Formats: sequence, C-alpha cells, structure tokens
Amino acid sequence: MSKVKYYYDPDTLSYRKIEPKKSKRYRNVLLFVLGSALFGLLGLIILLNTRWVNTPKELSLEREVRNYELQFDILSKKMQQMEQVLANIEDRDNNIYRLYFEANPIPEEQRRAGFGGINRYKSLEGFNNSEIIIDATKRLDIIQKQMVIQSKSLDEIAKLAEEKEKLLAAIPAIQPINNEDLTRMASGYGWRSDPFTKARKMHWGMDFTAPRGTPIYASGDGKITRADNKSSGYGKHIRIDHGYGYISLYGHLSKYNVTVGQKVKRGDLIGFVGSTGRSEAPHLHYEIFKDGERINPINFYYGSLTAEEFENMLKHANQENQSLD
Ligand SMILES: [Zn+2]
Repeated sequence: MSKVKYYYDPDTLSYRKIEPKKSKRYRNVLLFVLGSALFGLLGLIILLNTRWVNTPKELSLEREVRNYELQFDILSKKMQQMEQVLANIEDRDNNIYRLYFEANPIPEEQRRAGFGGINRYKSLEGFNNSEIIIDATKRLDIIQKQMVIQSKSLDEIAKLAEEKEKLLAAIPAIQPINNEDLTRMASGYGWRSDPFTKARKMHWGMDFTAPRGTPIYASGDGKITRADNKSSGYGKHIRIDHGYGYISLYGHLSKYNVTVGQKVKRGDLIGFVGSTGRSEAPHLHYEIFKDGERINPINFYYGSLTAEEFENMLKHANQENQSLD
C-alpha cells in the first residue's frame, strides 16, 4: 500500500490529498515484483552452492569416495605385505638356494626392474586421483615382474637339484666290499713295494683283503662298460661308468654278477673277490678314474664313515707296506 501524500493549498488554506498518477503506480508494482524475483533467485543460487547444504546425490557420492579411500588404504597395506613376503623369498632364494647349488644370485636391480620405454601409465594421468592410481599400478607391475623372475629362478633350482641328486647318486662314494670294522684295508693309494719285484712302484688304487667269493658292490650308480680279463694285470675286472667323468674299476675277481651294458645302482652286487691276474692273494683291487686320471679312492668314503673311522682308514691306507696289486 502506497503512502497517502498531502500538499498545502494556499488558495483554500487547507491540506489536500495528492492523487498519484496511474502510470507511476504501475511502475512501482512492477519494480517490486522484479526485485523480489531477483532476490529470490540470488538466494536460491547461494543456497545450492554452499558446502553445508548438499543434495542427496552429492551426499551419496561423497560417501562412496570416502569408502574408496578406505578400501584403497587396505589394499595398499596388503600390497606392502606382499612386497615384504616376496622380498623374504628372494632373499632366501639368493642366499640359500642359489648359493647351495652354486648359481649366481640374481641382482637386486634385475629383480626390482620396472618397465622402461614408453609411458605405460599415460591413460591414468589427468585425474585428481592419478597419483595414487599410477603409484599402485607401478607397484603391482613390479610385484608381477618379481614373481616371474622368482618363478624362473625356482625352475632353475629344481633342475640343479635334480642334477645334483643324480651326481650324488653317481659318484662312487661307498666302499666296494663290506668292511664295517675296516680290517680289510690292506694297502692304499701311493708308493708301495711291488709284491713280485719288491721294487717301489706307484699303487693306483686300494686293496681290500677278503676271502675268495666275498661279494663286491657297485660304489655308485652307473653303467657296466667292461667285464673281462683283457686288461693287463687286473685279471677278471669290471669297470663302471658313472657319468660326470667318473669311472670305478674292480680287479682280480673270481666271478662276475653283471654283463656289459647293464645299468647298476649303488650297492648292487656286481661280482666276487678272487685272485685272477697279477695278484698275490685273494683281494679286491679298487680304482677310481676322474676325467681319465686315477685318483685316490679314500677321499670318496668320507660321507659314509664317521670322522674316527675315516682317521683310522687314513692311517691304514697311508702305511707304506707291500700292496697285493
Ligand atoms: Zn692293488
């Protein structure tokens, strides 16, 4: 309601009402309506843009983001645990397994290498969360690569272990006759007096005294390459090829229990003690060849003897007596 205005009329000496013009009244009404609408709109815009009043959709999005952040933290901790376990496996791999099988350790740089060249993470760039997503992706890529390298290393170890097992089974590592009390050692490897000429002569093996017919055993896995008396001096003798450059020889036998080409295991009965060939009395003459050279068999029994027994055998073997040849 507009105010009623008056003016003083000097002619009548009285106050008279001013009648407002019609056009002015309309203008005022219009201004009022426009002003109210403008203020209302402004208020609404401000209301919608304030932080403390969110739409339901915004509220649910915000909750979702908070949940992502929480889950991401948990995943990140799990990744950290994986990295630690993997590091521990790698450490054991380098310092125990690979060391044991005499393989070179895999260098740290090789195990931890990321991916060079083109930027694999370009598609992840340009977002608010780009940094954490790229970081996590890189970590997972490295873990994945580490696992591949570790897996390959274990394949290699498995192969080496199998080889080592074969090698250990092949090496002529036990005494070729039953000699529990070690009383059968008659003469060792080294310079000995020849039983026939009495001259000092190199004795290339070990002699074990035993009655004729005493069983002789293969000292390691291998294949029979000789079972004949065509080598000078050895009489009836057997040779076993163990692979890896090792050959064992058993001389002066009375009888064979194997034939050429036969495969034998350590401990298999291959023949019997005799005195054929250049021999003074029934005994087994035993030799080991490595890459064509005759070496001292005594160094191979160590694993099957106690330290004391080995000492005892060493003493026996080193006596510079007469060999039985
Ligand atoms: Zn001998």
